[in-house]
Amino acid sequence: MTTTERLFVLPAVGDRLGRYTVERVEDLPEMQGKLVLLRHDLGARHAHVARDDDNLAFGVTFPTVPKDSTGVAHILEHVVLMGSQKYPVGDPFFAMLPRSLNTFMNAMTASDWTTYPFSTRNEKDFYNLLGVYLDATFFPLLRYESFRQDGHRFEFETPNDPGTPLKLQGVVYNEMKGAMASPGSVMWRSFGKALYPDLTYANNSGGAPEDIPNLTYEGLRAFHAAHYHPSNAFFYTYGRLDLPRVLGEIETHVMSKFSPQTLDVSIPDQPSFSEPQRVDVTYPGTDVERGGQVSVAWKLGHTTNPDQNLRWSVLSDVLLGNPAAPLTRPLIESGIGSALADLSGYRDNFREGAFAAGLKGLGAGKADEVEALVLNTLRSIVQGGIDPELIESSLHQFEIGQREVSNSGYPYGLQVMFRLLGPWLYGGDPVTGLRLEAELNRLREDLKAGPVFEPMIQEELLDNPHRVTLVLAPDPELAARSEQAERELVERLSAAFTDEDRARIVRESLQLQELQAQESDPDVLPTLTLADVPPTVPRVPYTTQEEGRALVGRVPQPTGGLTYLDLQVRLPEVPADLLDTLPLYAYAVTRSGAAGQDYLAIARRIEAVTGGVSASVGVGGRPDDLDTLRLTVTFSGKALSRNGGALIGVLRDLIQAPEFTRERLEQLLKQRLAGLKASVVNAGNAYAERLAAAQVSPAGNIEEHFSGLTALEHLKQIVEGDELDALLDRLNRVRDLLLQGRPLLCLTATEDDLNLDLTPITREFTGDSPVGHPHPGTLEGGPRARLTDSPVAFNAVAFRTVPYTHPDSPALLVLSRLLRSEYLLKEIREKGGAYGGGAAFDARAGVFSFSSYRDPHITRTYEVFRGARQFLDTPLSDRELTEAILSASKTLDPLTSPDTAGRLRFYGDQAGYTPEVQEEYKARLLKVTLDDLKRVTDAWLTPDRAGYALVAGRDPNAETEALGLQFEVQAI
Ligand SMILES: [Zn+2]
Repeated sequence: MTTTERLFVLPAVGDRLGRYTVERVEDLPEMQGKLVLLRHDLGARHAHVARDDDNLAFGVTFPTVPKDSTGVAHILEHVVLMGSQKYPVGDPFFAMLPRSLNTFMNAMTASDWTTYPFSTRNEKDFYNLLGVYLDATFFPLLRYESFRQDGHRFEFETPNDPGTPLKLQGVVYNEMKGAMASPGSVMWRSFGKALYPDLTYANNSGGAPEDIPNLTYEGLRAFHAAHYHPSNAFFYTYGRLDLPRVLGEIETHVMSKFSPQTLDVSIPDQPSFSEPQRVDVTYPGTDVERGGQVSVAWKLGHTTNPDQNLRWSVLSDVLLGNPAAPLTRPLIESGIGSALADLSGYRDNFREGAFAAGLKGLGAGKADEVEALVLNTLRSIVQGGIDPELIESSLHQFEIGQREVSNSGYPYGLQVMFRLLGPWLYGGDPVTGLRLEAELNRLREDLKAGPVFEPMIQEELLDNPHRVTLVLAPDPELAARSEQAERELVERLSAAFTDEDRARIVRESLQLQELQAQESDPDVLPTLTLADVPPTVPRVPYTTQEEGRALVGRVPQPTGGLTYLDLQVRLPEVPADLLDTLPLYAYAVTRSGAAGQDYLAIARRIEAVTGGVSASVGVGGRPDDLDTLRLTVTFSGKALSRNGGALIGVLRDLIQAPEFTRERLEQLLKQRLAGLKASVVNAGNAYAERLAAAQVSPAGNIEEHFSGLTALEHLKQIVEGDELDALLDRLNRVRDLLLQGRPLLCLTATEDDLNLDLTPITREFTGDSPVGHPHPGTLEGGPRARLTDSPVAFNAVAFRTVPYTHPDSPALLVLSRLLRSEYLLKEIREKGGAYGGGAAFDARAGVFSFSSYRDPHITRTYEVFRGARQFLDTPLSDRELTEAILSASKTLDPLTSPDTAGRLRFYGDQAGYTPEVQEEYKARLLKVTLDDLKRVTDAWLTPDRAGYALVAGRDPNAETEALGLQFEVQAI
């Protein structure tokens, strides 16, 4: 038997596999797989999805229902990964990252469960990681020092001097301080609390900064003992795996060491409100003009009911799924706000579901207006009835979702896990998360018999008193008040401290420092070796053909009956004043009208015949030269193959005949501005890195104009300075320019569907201008600081280095990996208390960068960055080097799937990144030495090649003098 055949010889219902009983075996025809559900005698549940996929996946999930907002579930998630009985090293999770070829490793805390998933394409690696995950979750050391490092602790400002002020520290403490400064997170936490005030959802499972200090070490241990037990565990495995072997490993490692236990983690029903409520919440923000949100939310029925889940998902898409949708459109066109409120739509991540709709981008006092608008719109939808075509379009989106097998975003094997977990964890049928045929058929039958969705809106929304109008507003003084409250909390908690207590704090700080400095022996952990790295890169077969001015690649792939089309246009010389317009063009072009249809008609057309279309801008270069650049605009779309022609028609109309109007553009730009502004506090490190890279790299400078704070600034000017007419003119010039470009099309589909006629698009490109090579130079003027409402900082420095084919490039890539796991993690996260710190090397742009994430420090962090070279002189062994090379090799071999494999290969080849060039890179990479790392650091990471930028809540110049850096400061 081949592996694939063996894969599908599965046990039958009632079979015993050790102490497991097979409870169900189900076909999953849409994904060509089978599901086996088992139960262990100790109560553990196991779902195995057998599927011919070499990306093997695992997850173990525990329902965790906190009774307070101390963040116990979240802090536990951190601490279980910090050493276990078999692997007593400081941080086995982070230590495994570079010893593995995993395609995903993480741990997550949701409001009522905690999960530990991973995936990998290497079987040996799968069993290595399985052992580490099982030991970590069931047998963690839960050291007191780990609790203090990642949870919370008192520390004197100078840790060994009890005369300096006391501070609260801790990784999760700082992580949550950062998170609760973001309106999106505050909205999410408030949503559960507002709709389910009597249930576990009223607590902040991540931890409210003011409550985290109430968590005790004993409380943490007790929570683990109660929840992380086989009786409360949901195991999941996926892929081309030998099921009996996996179960055997779990039995030996875990089950054999436990005795039965029971725990009630069931969540009761939330008693219904007798009348609608209003809840006001605030976040630390200063944008009182546009920083508010209003969301109208309802509690619905149980999410374990598959019919209700499907129907609400479809109805949510009908009402809100696109700009023309009957609830979205009146909300946006009202002009009250700029975009739909966070969390709008159907939410199945509570035991009882929820539906919400509202607006963001609001000033104060808009709650009544938004509430009335939502309710009146719903009433008129019930009265007028829903156009059956809209329902058909949404069902068509479901068909696409069911058929698509993609590793984009999450690996497919883990997407399947999350679909299955939804109903499973609440005691429902996990199969319904994976197979919707029966529910879809019932829905279609009911639709034939009469209205389905209108009565749902009437009964479950309009007539439902369990409704909350949730109002989120920025409070400019909240940041200062929170700081004051933190100081008072520290004072209150420490008021009764004796000298002995103070001495203990000093002692414990020193103990923690000692532990952090200790060299633990990671060799107890399993590992892969360089021999496990495949020396080749995958060749994906495709054909190419010149069609007029276009080059067309056709890639046969098992796409499940979907067709993917990408169209990359290499632009001719772009006039300087159009550079900033390009990203706005890409944003607006798929959201506006075209070819005589307004934006609503286009949106309906996109929803009816495609699985989505998008446009993006990019900058690319050559593998051997950092200064010869070119600009591209890429259109992408997918559709069921029967709609291939219709997809081509949509893309042609958008490219050839877009119609931008002032009114629509104003809506779009406000929406985009709100989105970008909100992203700054969550992705401040990415913005800081881009702004730093712009100072040293021409490609980085262009990226800064496309998606950095410069793009944000430009957009703000247009919106606030009312420069829309000038922009309209520039957008039309971009369209003309685009049609002068050189198009490269890549079509991916099954063999039978590859003959799609692309000439309706290719014949539109009639120009003969050569491809342009922009010379934007770099951003002059020295270090930049950008200030925003954030209690933490995001620090970055970037260096200009070498192009891809330069012999030093692989060493720089390895260097970034080594510094990240061996040096920065320890210095910036463990010692500095930041949520994260990293080094990255963009081999194609030739930019090396350091950055930190949600960081309490500025000066200290830059000193750490500068200490990198010195660190390389400390004793380092082959282990650190091998791990860094393993981890670097992963970036050369990304996880692909039928939708992306061909596209990556085709555009890579066209840009000069052929398999031969990549294999040469890999061969050099596998031979990098420690001396190479020192040499490239000395050669390329030098002060004259550096650019500095940071995003923070405070002016850095008061404290960075010692660094010799003077930042130019601007508010965002
Ligand atoms: Zn966390």
